[in-house]
Amino acid sequence: MTQTPNMEEMPKAYEPGKVEAKWYKFWLEKGYFKPKIDPEKKPFVIIMPPPNVTGELHIGHALTATLEDIMTRWHRMKGDPTLWLPGVDHAGIAAQVVVEQLLAEESLTRHQLGRNRFIERMWQWAEKCRQTIAGQHQRLGASCDWSRECFTLDEGPSRAVRTAFLRLYEKGLIYQGERIINWCPRCATALSDLEVDHKEIAGHLYYVRYPLAEGNQFITVATTRPETILGDTAVAVNPNDERFKAMVGKKVLLPAVNRVIPIVVDEAVDPDFGTGAVKITPAHDSVDFEVAQRQGLPLVNILNPDATMNENAGPYVGLDRFACRKAILSDLEKDGLLVKVEPYSHSVGHCQRCQTTIEPIASKQWFITMPPLAKPAIDAILDRRITIIPERFTKVYLNWMENIRDWCISRQLWWGHRIPVWYCQECGELTVAIEDAKSCSHCGSAKIEQDPDVLDTWFSSALWTHSTLGWPDDTEDLSYFYPTAVMETGYDILFFWVARMIMMGLEDTSAVPFHTVYLHGLVRDEKGEKMSKIKGNVLNPIDTLERYGTDALRLALSMGTAPGNDIKLAPSRLEAGRNFANKLWNATRFVIRSIEPARSDMEIRWDLLPIEDRWILSRLNRTISSVTSLMEDFQFGEAQRQIHDFLWGEFCDWYIELTKIRLRSPGEVLSPIPVLVYVLETSLRLLHPYMPFVTEELWQHLKRRLPSEWSATESIMVAAYPEAEDKAIDLQAERVMESVIEIIRSIRNARAQYQVESRRWVEAQIYSSQLSSAIIPYSQTIQTLARARPVTFPSSREEAPPQENALVMVLKESEVIIPMESMIDLEAERKRIQGEIEQIQAEVARLEARLKDRAFLTKAPTAVIDKERQKLYALTDKLERLKQQLIRFQA
Ligand SMILES: [Zn+2]
Ligand SMILES: [Zn+2]
Repeated sequence: MTQTPNMEEMPKAYEPGKVEAKWYKFWLEKGYFKPKIDPEKKPFVIIMPPPNVTGELHIGHALTATLEDIMTRWHRMKGDPTLWLPGVDHAGIAAQVVVEQLLAEESLTRHQLGRNRFIERMWQWAEKCRQTIAGQHQRLGASCDWSRECFTLDEGPSRAVRTAFLRLYEKGLIYQGERIINWCPRCATALSDLEVDHKEIAGHLYYVRYPLAEGNQFITVATTRPETILGDTAVAVNPNDERFKAMVGKKVLLPAVNRVIPIVVDEAVDPDFGTGAVKITPAHDSVDFEVAQRQGLPLVNILNPDATMNENAGPYVGLDRFACRKAILSDLEKDGLLVKVEPYSHSVGHCQRCQTTIEPIASKQWFITMPPLAKPAIDAILDRRITIIPERFTKVYLNWMENIRDWCISRQLWWGHRIPVWYCQECGELTVAIEDAKSCSHCGSAKIEQDPDVLDTWFSSALWTHSTLGWPDDTEDLSYFYPTAVMETGYDILFFWVARMIMMGLEDTSAVPFHTVYLHGLVRDEKGEKMSKIKGNVLNPIDTLERYGTDALRLALSMGTAPGNDIKLAPSRLEAGRNFANKLWNATRFVIRSIEPARSDMEIRWDLLPIEDRWILSRLNRTISSVTSLMEDFQFGEAQRQIHDFLWGEFCDWYIELTKIRLRSPGEVLSPIPVLVYVLETSLRLLHPYMPFVTEELWQHLKRRLPSEWSATESIMVAAYPEAEDKAIDLQAERVMESVIEIIRSIRNARAQYQVESRRWVEAQIYSSQLSSAIIPYSQTIQTLARARPVTFPSSREEAPPQENALVMVLKESEVIIPMESMIDLEAERKRIQGEIEQIQAEVARLEARLKDRAFLTKAPTAVIDKERQKLYALTDKLERLKQQLIRFQA
């Protein structure tokens, strides 16, 4: 049995490093993170977006973990069976690139190691990352159920991948086809459209003459990639373009390789681009590929997988693509075929992982037909079975889904789910299977070979909400926890991941995978710039929590957060988080010190409570009710602000100060301790989802000093979340206390404005037609907290001694009048003003004389004269104001 950690005397200051690990271990050992399946109750479920096994967590992961933990802890405290399921993603190409770089440091390549040994290395690396990531999540306080942790390559999810593949294949939605795909020559793999970054490049448009096969005529085409000339199989013109009418059907001689190709017509040709005649390179351009399909043109691939030229490139074989471009341009120029070169800015695809320029290449790949999968996923949003927060992303989602293209799912990598397809060498047929095939399903031959490629890493991610719960098996977890409640993730992976999860969830289970999509923004630096290693503005979450404390980091990340909005993480926010933890620490120490000598009865005597107690209880309960509806509305930033402002601005700054006055006269007034303890204990629970560590530490310190009936619950994280009590709402008490606070504040402000020495008492007269009788009992409080004496409450202005020289402050429900002489020494002030007036008058006279001086006016530059005039104007104005002030001080 785990014992509650020993709570020694409460130290003077909060040291997060000393308590965080202790509490995480306690929660973990107690099994609080594991939900109890209760068929009577609706569970709350979040499947964590699995971080990639590419290294460590970054600050964006810390934001994800914070928001998900807030939701998880809140629901758990509300009594919902709550599951937050953690995991990691094998990350395909991204992880393979990292390990290849590590191998390069040992002067090794994956090919030297061979597939099996390379995959072993990948597993070692993945395991190391998984442990690091789990440890970091624990330091962030993530209350996820580690007993259900999943890895995309685990046995269960792997079987889910093969099952989903087989089902789609049998439905005819997975097909193998030759298409133009995005090829990264460095990674040597196909990429999906989403994995390509398009950048505007200042390139050139080359105009090249193709000689006609017969006669002396030419046709001129324009291209940005002259090396692809080697792969041309036609020249095309628009059927309505009169300029080329005579040439259609003729043949041209392809420069450099001397291949004869036809001139064809096709509607797709834009007559306004270049010369109106375009080269057709079907193996290296997706538009040309379609033209070739329509026109029955052959495909000529001119590139090797590493982007060097292959044997189809004739004399250029073996050259790198860019070297080939140079060589071919110089040959064209020599032959007089290069007509002109224009600067031309165009969009060029780059590999998202390594930034190498992408080559569009016709290649045989596996694809999923997306439109039939997209249809139900569009309906699920339209009929509100799934809500996207913020709403504006719904349109973005629908627009993408309505124009969805087939998804290229094969990758020429080693790390990932190997495609479950076997090719038969005897009959040539394919076998698709969930278990590794031993023989051909068509002819029974054992001479079969598995497809060497792996699936796009997002294929397994698309199944994540159901594969982690046991699908394709009908497990207890699947039937109880699926569909999940919330998918919380960054808006940047709406298409990569969220859309595909909706499609595959519906396809595999006929149910939506989650009811709410909550999209958070990016974490940026204080200037709003994206964090990047190159800029050196990256905040490492672990360094940050070591410096400020985990709760401070969590508070900084959730401060002001609104769905879909980026966050500027300035150091001031982290400091604010740390200061808040310290403020709570000090407040709790005060409460504990106050209870200790008395060990008093903790019962709240509702019928006897003074106004300030009724006020704080009312404010507490109104905060609870507002926070609850904000949380239900996913407004975590605003909910946090309200808890913070209540605790700091009302409880600590005012209520505790008010109780100090009462505690000084025990016996004479009702003890504030029961209310003090009640409000603090409830507020700690209200705050717990945001700041789990400091609230647990304080709650435990508090609890052990309270009577035994408070000790039934072992930990704040399994205590009930506060619920608002209507009986505590007292608008009249709020109105009175707000007035008292406003009066004290106004007197303090006046003191500050007139720089009244702190030991000096000022006089105050307070009028309030409505609230006087309620405020009068607080005159002692006003005296103490505003350092005002005497404080009087004349029933009308006429009754008060005349105050000609007084500061009058009109407040919401009252008026405060402070005689000037009670704040400042009038005689001294008059003398000071008089002195200043004389000084300014002298300066004014000097300036006036100067501006009348002809010599100055003719010799000095205009700018200097203007400056003197402005100075005179400003001084005259100040003089006038000082004279007015002096009149006010003539008592
Ligand atoms: Zn690449
Ligand atoms: Zn066969």
